[in-house]
This record gives sequence, structure tokens and C-alpha cells, in this order.
Amino acid sequence: MGNVIGIDLGTTNSCVSVVENGKAVIIPSDTGSRTTPSVVAFSKDGERYVGDTARRQLVVNPDRTISSIKRQMGTNWSMKIDGSLYKPQTISAYILMKLKQDAEKYLGQTVNDAVITVPAYFNDTQRQATKDAGAIAGLNVLRIINEPTSAAMSYGLDHGDSKKVMVFDLGGGTFDVSIIDIADGIIEVMATSGDNHLGGDDFDERIADWIAEQFRQEHRIDLRKDFAARQRIREAAEQAKKELSSATTAQINLPYIAKDRSGPLHLDLTFTRDKLNELIGDLIGRTEAPVVNALADAGISASKLDMVLLVGGSTRVPAVKDKVKKLTGKEPSQNINPDECVAMGAAILGSTLTGNALISRGTGQSLMLFDVTPLSLSIETMGGVATRLIERNTTIPFKYTKEFTTASPMQTTIEVNVLQGERPMAHDNKTIGKFMMHGIRRSNSGMPRINVTFDIDANGILKVSAQDLTTGKMQSVTITASDRMSDTEIEQARRDAEMYSATDGIRKDGLALTDECRRLILDTDNRLKEQKKQMYKAKYREIKKDVSELERLTSKFRADKVTAQDVDAMRQAKERLEASAGSIGA
Ligand code: AMP
Repeated sequence: MGNVIGIDLGTTNSCVSVVENGKAVIIPSDTGSRTTPSVVAFSKDGERYVGDTARRQLVVNPDRTISSIKRQMGTNWSMKIDGSLYKPQTISAYILMKLKQDAEKYLGQTVNDAVITVPAYFNDTQRQATKDAGAIAGLNVLRIINEPTSAAMSYGLDHGDSKKVMVFDLGGGTFDVSIIDIADGIIEVMATSGDNHLGGDDFDERIADWIAEQFRQEHRIDLRKDFAARQRIREAAEQAKKELSSATTAQINLPYIAKDRSGPLHLDLTFTRDKLNELIGDLIGRTEAPVVNALADAGISASKLDMVLLVGGSTRVPAVKDKVKKLTGKEPSQNINPDECVAMGAAILGSTLTGNALISRGTGQSLMLFDVTPLSLSIETMGGVATRLIERNTTIPFKYTKEFTTASPMQTTIEVNVLQGERPMAHDNKTIGKFMMHGIRRSNSGMPRINVTFDIDANGILKVSAQDLTTGKMQSVTITASDRMSDTEIEQARRDAEMYSATDGIRKDGLALTDECRRLILDTDNRLKEQKKQMYKAKYREIKKDVSELERLTSKFRADKVTAQDVDAMRQAKERLEASAGSIGA
């Protein structure tokens, strides 16, 4: 296998890394920068720009420039440009393609595999959208991992003593704080909190406002009303802010920013670190509540933290570092660049996954990082159907309970067949565990209430239990990673799911349709009973005939044998019954 790249697909900036000679290094962009703005632009003449070039032309082309697309991942956001509709996955894919190209240029060879990071709080849909973006960009996404987990890996914290670590991540537009627990090579995110709208961009806004206000007081011209001037001020504000991370004063110089009757006007100001702290003090203060919440959710006090890691460009601001020190009572670790460590951790994981083991652990075990379930988990239900309880790519640990009942009257035993795979029929998936549940009280079918729970812990160990809610009786099975599918089997299962997607689609449609038909038959029968006396006999007979026909087709339905014609016939019979039954009671 070739090189695996680690990608931090950020809200403001993205970063790509690779492991070379046992060390994670940052891959520079074609402009030489170590991070790439997560900005995509479409020029009027049909060109697409990504990164620095896209960001630079924002001033002249704001309507066709897209930034912060990460905030839209997993939503229905779309944007139409020159007749084409762009979704968040596609825009993110353009950023990923640029990083892939930069990596290929740097390495001098094609890059196929990647590990991409996402915030720990990203849900399944957002993770899947990120994976899809990777696929669109032509990348084989080996793993989607949590950003704080990745940061911890860049510090090599996954081996050695067990630790509790706080990852304080303040970027351009978002703030995330996570408490992670590292023990025996297992990294678990214990709690996360944050503020989705807090970051360095807000600092820049405050500084820009202050600059414009100084100019207004001197010249009585409000530069905020002039779009181009506003953009120049924003850029100067960010630049000055960055300078103040190492110096105590910065000069802001913007020649020809406006003009009045006397001629062109220039902006020239001295900006100090004290002034910066005054302007952004309350914004920094907003990091306090999420830190307190994350610690409370993790059930630990700050004094129990072994380490505090700084992530995100905005943690370079000295007042931010001071705030972290004050909140945690600890000197934060900062020997790795805060805007690079997430990508580096992802590259390290990528290298470990492909066997180019960078991380050698005393125990000789491989690193356990079960962030998401690779395939869906189901149980077999009536008619040999795989009924899903956990979707593929669900972040773990995860627990889910669903209520089931018996299919036959007087049934006292049920078999719980636990399946892994994407296909709708049980026998097309792999059985990874099985157990019998005995002693169900005799009753009519559909009466017993049995809760089936899937519980996957941080180590990827799955416990499946079934509990009879009437008797309280419980049976369970524990399935460890070794019982489940190997990576090759998982890949095969995914390929099968794709290959059979047309047949499986018909089966799924058929299954959903039979459910609807059964409900319609039941409902129509009840209404016929109620209204029989008031109805014309001929009408009654006509509806009864439609009910029988739909009943015939529904009872004949076998998911594993169904064809598109069967589904169509059932759909037509259903529509006929809906039309005729619509007149009951009219
Ligand atoms: P990130 O999203 O982690 O790339 O962080 C981007 C944010 O970090 C932007 O708001 C940058 O202005 C800010 N940033 C980058 N470098 C510095 C620096 N040296 N001092 C202060 N802020 C910085």
C-alpha cells in the first residue's frame, strides 16, 4: 500500500500530513503555506479556485466564493452556480482534491488512502457526508477519526501510561473542548463541549471594528460601508492579531483606503497587545462555560487532568493561553504546532492502519481505535429480514434498544441472530452471534414485549441482550472484535451491498410497502365493519374485493424472491384499495 495522508478538514483552514521516515510531516501547499484556507471559488469564466487563491479573490467575487462549508456538512444546504447545484460534500471534496494534489506533488506519486478528522460531536450524517466528500475526491477513506483523538495521537499519548487529557481547540470559527481518556492504547472521548460560533474570526471582527472606528473619528468616514475597504481592514486586523502573538505592538498600515475632498486618505495605527486583550476579553471569557461543562460531563475536576493540549490557530493568542492556564491550573503543552497536530495525528493513524507501524507498543497489540462501526448491525426478524439496530459508521460507544414481539401464537422461545452487513435479507449478512431466549409467557402473537439492546463499548465490544418486559427475564451474548468480520470481509460486504443495490432496493421497497399494505387492510376492515349498515351492498362488495386482492399479494410476498413487477402489482392494488376505500363513510 502507498502513502496514507492524514487530513484535518477544518472550518477555516485545512492541513495535510504524511509519515516519512517514522515522523509525521506537514505537506506544504503549492503556495508554500502549511495550511490551506477551506475556501472554494468559482470565477465568472468557469475556473474553480481552492485555498489561498480562492480566499484572495473573496473581495471581488463574494457571491461565488464559499467558505466555512464544514458548518453545512450533513445538512440540505446547496448552492446553484452557473446552473450546477453544489452540495456540502462536493464543496468539501474540492478542498480534499486540492490537498490530495498537493500531497501527490510533494510525494511524487499517486495518493489513494486517507484518514480524515471530524469534530468529536459530529453525528453519523455529518461523518458520512465527510466520508462521501472523500470518495468524491477520489480518496479511499480508511477512517474518520475525532479531532481531539488525533491531536492526542500526534503527541504520542496513545502509548505509555494512562492519562486524562483536555484538548482545547480554538480555531477560526469554532471552539471545541474535549476530555479524553487514554488507557492501554484505547483513546476514548469522555465528554465534549464548545461553542459553534466562537473563534479567531470573531477576534478579527472586533479588531476591524476598532480600526474603522478610529478612522471614522479622525476623518468622519465610515469604512464599514465600503465593501472593499472592509475586506482590507479585516485582513489587516488578522495580520496584526497574529503579530501580537509574538510582539507587544503591531503597526496597521492601509494606504489609499478612502478619499475625501483633500485627496486620498491613508490609515496608519499602532495596535498594542493590551488593546487586543481589551477588545477580545469577553470573547475569550466565553470559553469558560464549555470547559466547566466538559469537565462536569466527564465527571472529573481540572486537578485530575494529566495534560492540556492546545489545538487551533487561535490558541496562539497569549491571552487565550493564559485563560487555559487559569481554567485548568496547568501549563498547556504546545511543543507541536496547534494548527498542525490534528493532521499529523491522522497521518500517524493512517500509517499504523496500513502496517507501516510507527507506533510500537510494548504489548505487541495493534492500536485499538474503534471510532465508528464499519458495517451495520441487525437482528433477523420474520421472513428472514435483517432489521437494523445500528447503522454503519455509528460512533461508539453506543447503546440502542428496540422493542420486538413474537411472530406465532403461543411462542415461548425466540432466537436472536445477530448480523453484520448492509443487505436487507438476513442470509446475505454475516451472523456474528446467536442466542436463544426461552421462557416467554404463552400468549397471542404480538403480545409479548421483548426489548433487544445493542451496546458497544469504547473497545468495540458488542453486548446484545434481550429482555422479556413481562417477566423481566434477560439473555445476552458478548461479541468481541475477533468474532466480527475481518477488514477483507468488510470490504467484500461493502462491494456486495453496492453490487446488489438494485435487487436490495426492490426488497427494501417491497418490505416497506407490505407494512403499509397490512396497515391499510387492517384500517379498511375496521372502517368497513363500522359503516357496513350505512353502505350500498355493491360498494361494500367492491371494496371487500380490493381488500382480498391486496391481502393475496401481501401474504404471497417473500422478500428474498420479490421482483420489481411484484412490487408494482402490490403498489397498484394498494392504490386501487385506497381509491375505493376513500368513499367509506362519505
Ligand atoms: P485554524 O482553524 O485552527 O486554522 O485557526 C485559524 C485561526 O487561527 C484564524 O482565526 C487565524 O487568524 C488564527 N491564527 C493563526 N495563527 C495565529 C497566530 N499566530 N496568532 C493568533 N491567531 C492565529
